[in-house]
Amino acid sequence: MSPMPVSSSHSVALNSGCQMPLLGLGTYKLCGPADVYQAVDAALAAGYRSFDSAAVYHNEADLGKALRELLPKHGLTRQDVFITSKLGPKDQGVRAMDGALHSLSQLDLEYIDLYLIHWPGTQGLPVADDRNPGNRAQSWASLEELHSQGKLRAIGVSNYTPAHMRALMQSCKVPPAVLQVEFHPRLCQPELRSLCKEFGVCFQAYSSLGKGELLTDPVILEVAKNCERTPAQVLLRWAVQQGVPVLPKSSNPERILRNAEVFDFTLSDPDMDRLSALDCGHRFCWDPSEVA
Ligand code: NAP
Repeated sequence: MSPMPVSSSHSVALNSGCQMPLLGLGTYKLCGPADVYQAVDAALAAGYRSFDSAAVYHNEADLGKALRELLPKHGLTRQDVFITSKLGPKDQGVRAMDGALHSLSQLDLEYIDLYLIHWPGTQGLPVADDRNPGNRAQSWASLEELHSQGKLRAIGVSNYTPAHMRALMQSCKVPPAVLQVEFHPRLCQPELRSLCKEFGVCFQAYSSLGKGELLTDPVILEVAKNCERTPAQVLLRWAVQQGVPVLPKSSNPERILRNAEVFDFTLSDPDMDRLSALDCGHRFCWDPSEVA
């Protein structure tokens, strides 16, 4: 099976001026040098050029090492890949500068393509604590500073609600390039999507497969059967067909390869509508709606 062709049509333009691939490998729960190496090797062979890590995944060092070893093997350079990492909730506020610099040193990179505030809250504070907004603003100022130094090529946020987004847009000097949130047919996030459109922020999906649980949904199975695709491909295609970048995670080389085969077919409008009609506000991950 030949790898998917790398094409600019498989990427989105960010407001920071760079391009971000529509497909990236999620790395949550990919831990340990051997597992990370195997997954990154399979992903590069399958055409993935984007990798999503985070300080709290404890795999930044393994990802950086795997890329240093594997990019030459695949005839690639640092410039050919897009690396995302995230500021841990424990580093929100005064510790944000050190937290981001720690990510850079763990990855052992001169720059990170995209760095996100992982969560609107601060670890150790109650969700409703009124120090949360100030800490977020302080973190954002640190990310803006590192962005101006070229160490973080693009900066963004994750798990922000519409209220968090509006506050950030009012106070920021550099607008966020990306909002990364949970997005799949059972959680279509219409308000956040239209806000992102209005603000020129790229809306990016995580947990597109519902952490694997959506793969047995009867409607997904039926659509997959009818178009002779896997349930995972249908879920990923549903997002990328709407221009939403995805980050499927797998540690299995065969699944990593198959999950990348989403640019060579189209879902019909009725199938797209059928999937979108599954929206019921269901979350498989954390819910930020109570964070002050
Ligand atoms: P996901 O990608 O929705 O699902 C991953 C699960 O599905 C794993 O258990 C995986 O198992 C399984 N899987 C993958 N492909 C499959 C296939 N073709 N057939 C059967 N099973 C398959 O879940 P996620 O890890 O929660 O989300 C993806 C990425 O988004 C994360 O890794 C992370 O990078 C990012 N994320 C960000 C946040 C945030 O707060 N910003 C939160 C959650 C996730 P195997 O590994 O065994 O294949």
